[in-house]
Amino acid sequence: MEAIKGTASYKGIAIGRIAEMEKDDAVVRRVHIDDADAETVRYVAAKEKAQEQLMLLKDKALKEAGEAQAEIFEAHSMFLDDFDDSVINIIRTQMVNAEYAVAETGDNISEMLSAMEDNPYMQARAGDVTDVANRVIRILSGREISGNEFSEQVILISDDLTPSETVQLDKSKVLAFVTREGSANSHTAILARTMNIPALCRTSVPKEAAGRMGIVDGFAGIIYVDPDEDTLKKYEQMLLSEREKKELLLELKGKDTVTKSGRKVRLYANIGGIGDLSYALQNDAAGIGLFRSEFLYLQNDDFPGEDEQFRAYRTVAEMMAGKEVVIRTLDIGADKQIDYFKLDREENPALGCRAIRICLTREDIFRTQLRALYRASAYGNICIMFPMIISVWEVERALKIAEEVRHELASKSIPYKEVPIGIMIETPAAVLIADELAELVDFFSIGTNDLTQYTLAIDRQNQKLDRFFIPHHPAVLKAISMTIEAGHRHNIWVGICGELGADPELTEQFVRMGIDELSMSPSSILPVRKIIREMD
Ligand code: PEP
Ligand code: MG
Repeated sequence: MEAIKGTASYKGIAIGRIAEMEKDDAVVRRVHIDDADAETVRYVAAKEKAQEQLMLLKDKALKEAGEAQAEIFEAHSMFLDDFDDSVINIIRTQMVNAEYAVAETGDNISEMLSAMEDNPYMQARAGDVTDVANRVIRILSGREISGNEFSEQVILISDDLTPSETVQLDKSKVLAFVTREGSANSHTAILARTMNIPALCRTSVPKEAAGRMGIVDGFAGIIYVDPDEDTLKKYEQMLLSEREKKELLLELKGKDTVTKSGRKVRLYANIGGIGDLSYALQNDAAGIGLFRSEFLYLQNDDFPGEDEQFRAYRTVAEMMAGKEVVIRTLDIGADKQIDYFKLDREENPALGCRAIRICLTREDIFRTQLRALYRASAYGNICIMFPMIISVWEVERALKIAEEVRHELASKSIPYKEVPIGIMIETPAAVLIADELAELVDFFSIGTNDLTQYTLAIDRQNQKLDRFFIPHHPAVLKAISMTIEAGHRHNIWVGICGELGADPELTEQFVRMGIDELSMSPSSILPVRKIIREMD
């Protein structure tokens, strides 16, 4: 048995035979032509056909994967429109064949996008451009798109997969996607998530694995080749319980989260980036309760600029289509360290310069993020949330900076909305002054991960202290109920976005305490909905 580690793009278990994806790579030759007009006509006809194919693919994606994924092909269609000037120019000035002109244009645009290191989203679009170019080239050279028809369900391995290839595959035959390259941020990963197919990327699975038995563990990010009997048994069990969960999912989709006596609770999703959105939607999240914006910073080598952040926040706001999206401002420090912040080494980083403390010390970083957030607010229903609050002055100062940012945008006639502003309650200090804090903000969201750490004085990272760590400690539960009561005394809503929010053993207790919103990883939403619907 061989266990090969990779990066998990979508959780899930798959057991089956491994097959290598057959690529239909176009080898494009540069051929001299005599009639540039005729070659241009050939290009225009091929482009039109490509546009027709893209619209068909868009419809297919719409039916199988949803609106957000269908937009990928809409984007391909737009990329293709950008090809015209360059392709026709190359045909006419170099007197070369359309295939070559399209390949050259595709390479140029894709290289340009790959170089955008400060913008991982656009960088990831380089693959989409190559995909579009290959489509037109295939049409020009009269070749069919490869079939990859399998007689049984397979674990599909490949160097990489383009969005077109992913959608065109007969997904009833695909148990899992495993690629040697790719990123969890690519559209292909988004598609896999939406199609509910386990996926791994950056896995050095050898070509010789094809034809052998495999297990994909999309939780641990591992593919096993030729698994031994014990491993196979263990994963067969896991697969069974996964299936049960999926059935539960289907049953509860589209239903209200309401107790039998009519008490409603909003179940929102926690996300770390755009890549998690489709999963939130698929699991029926009524909104996003925690967008950990620091992931945008963590995945970069330098500070993400205002425009890059704006695009990410706008995408989330647009894709959630009017549903609430709570975006937490930067929560860096403690366990989330970033070299380019050049933070001082601290004896005790969990009690050091982190989150709002960094933002109020280095206001330039904070203002850039707030400008991006307010600009994005014009495109949906965004709420802003400040983390790690311990004092009234911090909230007052943060609100003042937000007000200055709004004035700055207004003076430049840049559209924005007066969005609700809330804070995380994740320190005992914030719990104890919750009444004063509630007068300043529109909502509270309880961060039970840090609240537990600071209430129990137990490092949340230190596994050696597990014996002393009591997740349902009465002090933490009391702090939660005190926060809910304080919030309600001041007529603001109170939610939980820490891991306890998804703890099925506590759901009833939270609802009885009067919690308004629970935000959790998307896969927990439907199981928690089930518990709430069964409550009196
Ligand atoms: C928390 O502390 O509960 C929380 C949601 O924030 P994070 O886990 O990102 O610190
Ligand atoms: Mg926290």
